[in-house]
Amino acid sequence: MLIKNASLIITPSEVKKNQSILIEGNIIKKIGPSKGMDKTDEVIDASGFLVMPGLINAHTHLAMTLFRGYEDNLPLQKWLEKIFPVEDRLTEKHVYWGSMLGCLEMIKSGTTCFNDMYYFMDEVAKSVGKTGIRGCLTRAISSKGNWKKRLKTMTEKIKNIKNSSRIEWILGPHAIYTCSEELLVRIKELADNYNKKIHIHVSETEKELKDCLREHGKRPVEYLDDIGLMSNRTIAAHCCWLNDKEMDILSKRGVSVVHNPVSNMKLAAGIAPVVKMLEKSINVSLGTDGAASNNNLDMFEEMKTASLLQKISMKNSLALDAKTCLKMATINGAKALGINSGVIESGKKADLILINLKSPNLKPMHNPYSTIVYSCHGENVDTTIVDGKVLMKNRKTSLDEEKIYEKIEDCKAELF
Ligand SMILES: [Zn+2]
Repeated sequence: MLIKNASLIITPSEVKKNQSILIEGNIIKKIGPSKGMDKTDEVIDASGFLVMPGLINAHTHLAMTLFRGYEDNLPLQKWLEKIFPVEDRLTEKHVYWGSMLGCLEMIKSGTTCFNDMYYFMDEVAKSVGKTGIRGCLTRAISSKGNWKKRLKTMTEKIKNIKNSSRIEWILGPHAIYTCSEELLVRIKELADNYNKKIHIHVSETEKELKDCLREHGKRPVEYLDDIGLMSNRTIAAHCCWLNDKEMDILSKRGVSVVHNPVSNMKLAAGIAPVVKMLEKSINVSLGTDGAASNNNLDMFEEMKTASLLQKISMKNSLALDAKTCLKMATINGAKALGINSGVIESGKKADLILINLKSPNLKPMHNPYSTIVYSCHGENVDTTIVDGKVLMKNRKTSLDEEKIYEKIEDCKAELF
């Protein structure tokens, strides 16, 4: 596939003008002048478009699209009390259609890869297979009920499951307040034995911090580090309540953090010290969290909010600039998830998006990073390419969108 004459090619480190991108299979082969790149099966004319790496949503609960707009204006604990009883009623079918809606929303807003933590993950995998997006999938596990049986099932699965070209399987202890120490240790052993990443919520709220101090006499990151759970294979979502010592641990262990500014603001959970974490060389990526606490999966909105939140909380308009936000939503996400993408470079996976620059909110352009982070939104994405395949062009996908909307209405009627 040839993406021809792109007006601009943007990555967090460079801007290229009037160049073309040659894709072979699912890999970016070459970037340069179109001359000599013409013999391809598929040509996309990208003049008038900005081409950039697909965005990576490093923490979400995809099927929670079903809960979009259900119970706003509650603090995390009270909100979870409303969500949990409905979640207990979820079946495979609900999770499949909720995930299909989430995949559709992400493809239409320029996200090419997501890191999920939920239930009925085979259904999420089916939706990833069907829609063509890339996903890292995690079955959330807690010590509620018969966890030993669930852990056994999970172990069997981890042993036998093969990662496909677009699906990576990850281990997902939900959080320290839902998992016993014994369970956390068992999951760490499993991750070590099978070289798996661990995706966990860490220090989302002040309550979590205080409870941890009371129960274990130490802070969440110290507690997790003492039981060996903090490593360069760990993806820690939120990290709002950290002190310097905890940040030093995250940095030393090479833990990747996922910042979820919209969800943190909406649930009034806290403000993650993103600037400080970056200064301490922690790999900070970006996520939307579930659509229930956001209430969408638009990573453009997330980049902008991340920047604004740091500026206002630090009372410093220089804090967290646009380029850094783009880096968090692309390269840093790829690093957190261990996937070979997040940048437009030869040898990288062909996960890219085209932005239609002929849009009122994008004119004029003085600085492309500023345009992407502060002006752009998901609807400006015209074309989404994942693993070398076009999933959306001229804002049209090949999915039966009407059917997805109908099924979502059925799920809503059954669940609520
Ligand atoms: Zn979450």
